[in-house]
Amino acid sequence: MKIELAHENLVEEEVLRFEEAIRTSKEQLSLLKTQLEEKVGREHAFILDVHLLMLEDRSLQAEIIDNIRKYRANAEWAVCQATDRILRAYESLEDEYFRERRSDIESAVDRILLNLSGGRGVAWRSVPGDLIIVSHRFDPSAFAAMDVLKLKGLALESGGRTSHMAIIARGMRLPAIMGIPDFLPYVASGDTLLLNGDDGQLIANPSPARIESLRERIDKFRAGAEPVATSIVSSPVTTDGTVICLQANTGFPYEVAAAKRSGAEGIGLFRSEFIFFGHPHGYPSMEEQFETYRNLIVEMRPHPVAIRTLDTGADKTATGGDDTVPPNDNMGLRGIRASLLEKGVFSAQIEAILRAGCAGKVEIVLPMVTTIQEIWEAKALIAQTREKILNSPGGGQSSFTVGAMIEVPAAVLSLETLAREVDFLCVGTNDLVQYLLAVDRGNPKVAHLFQPLHPAVLRCLTYITDVCGRTQKRVRLCGEISANPFYAILLLGMGFTNLSMNPLAIPIIRKVISDISLAEARLIAKKSLELVTAQEIADYLIEAVTPRISLDLTPFIKEIRDPNGHVSPHESFAFMPPA
Ligand code: PEP
Ligand code: MG
Repeated sequence: MKIELAHENLVEEEVLRFEEAIRTSKEQLSLLKTQLEEKVGREHAFILDVHLLMLEDRSLQAEIIDNIRKYRANAEWAVCQATDRILRAYESLEDEYFRERRSDIESAVDRILLNLSGGRGVAWRSVPGDLIIVSHRFDPSAFAAMDVLKLKGLALESGGRTSHMAIIARGMRLPAIMGIPDFLPYVASGDTLLLNGDDGQLIANPSPARIESLRERIDKFRAGAEPVATSIVSSPVTTDGTVICLQANTGFPYEVAAAKRSGAEGIGLFRSEFIFFGHPHGYPSMEEQFETYRNLIVEMRPHPVAIRTLDTGADKTATGGDDTVPPNDNMGLRGIRASLLEKGVFSAQIEAILRAGCAGKVEIVLPMVTTIQEIWEAKALIAQTREKILNSPGGGQSSFTVGAMIEVPAAVLSLETLAREVDFLCVGTNDLVQYLLAVDRGNPKVAHLFQPLHPAVLRCLTYITDVCGRTQKRVRLCGEISANPFYAILLLGMGFTNLSMNPLAIPIIRKVISDISLAEARLIAKKSLELVTAQEIADYLIEAVTPRISLDLTPFIKEIRDPNGHVSPHESFAFMPPA
């Protein structure tokens, strides 16, 4: 609302009031940034830099002060005049990523307006427990001020899969749905909400019967999210004495704590793309990456950390504000293909890994390898970068190993040749199943055809362990399947002794391994290979494994019978108002 100022001296007071609000806003944001860094890691705290930049924009401030003086208007009106114009410009942009940055500007404007009114903001500290936040939009900076453990979910009318909130929520394992149109009038404070991030459903005041029907999933989710026992020091051993190495798949710095708690013997797969996605410039600098990788390596000492170089894809869309890391599709410019075309980005990442490697044990993993030339080219770039570091002042010498992801059928069939060029292999079954069966892992329409138990997949995996056994090549399996006890036993029986998985699954798999002998697992794998459909194999596994394991395996049965757990959260949105 415009208020006309009666006296000239009031105009200058208004300018001072505006300048004071900017100063306070900057101080608050700097403090929030430090707090957010501690909670979700440095990469995601960069989100607040966008707000800070907005507050430091001198031409914008000049325009606002000009508005106050020219129209003898109150500061609130002058702020809205200037910023509405910018917001409208963002609205008209075609690029989804930039359109969504509109909310960053709105947050910064809200903060200025709040400070102009002397407001204190929402008292996040006093929010109740078991909270699902429903809102039109939500400012990530609020995470810094609240106890995130109280938060159980997030449902927003705005945003999409590339919005910062979606990025952060995924990393926090926080059930979240973005972009549900106009649902707020149907929800009131204190309502019970059922939020299903996997299927993109939000149900207000669900009936007891509906809650009951989803009880298994809720319990499974809760069980998976529970902290596990600490200080496990020994590797799991089968009843006949085979030692198995369990490692963790991670993508966010704070997941390292879960990996350590679970007793993971290192990070078997660090999905480095996540530190790229949250970054305001689209990709972090060498120095920023160095910091992240070094912290990771130091935290996991004496165990190794396998850093996979940037692997974007259809289900992992790069959200950067720079075209150097373009969004890709599954059959397109993914993984090593993109890195070899964007050598600047690739060599910065390699330099950061090699420099950070001086702090402990590091492995470089090349994703989506299809040809031997890709390995040659990547190794040449690694060697060049190593030279550069050695010739630079204070450049230390880290020892490192190089491995290739085996996730494309061509890589399996050329395994003997590829294996000679690398120190180890990482089998990515999420992609291998997708490419072998020609089933897009993110397409719900073909989810029923995504069958890790397809006989062709089992033959492929057995062939891989045969070749690795013959050539004495170290091999690790790091697809999602290793987190399911039925698959894990099958994999052991096929000869995999190093599995990497979501850290939350490690305690269960550890227990399963200690309940079975390698001889039994081998027999189970052999019999599975004689069967001709995924369904028969699933039925056989359930029958053969369940009586041997002293854990309730019911939650895992559904997954092997109906393995369509690849529908990404935030993909489809629906809201069911109360009946
Ligand atoms: C895989 O493909 O199995 C894998 C581990 O990598 P991602 O899921 O990140 O593609
Ligand atoms: Mg993969």
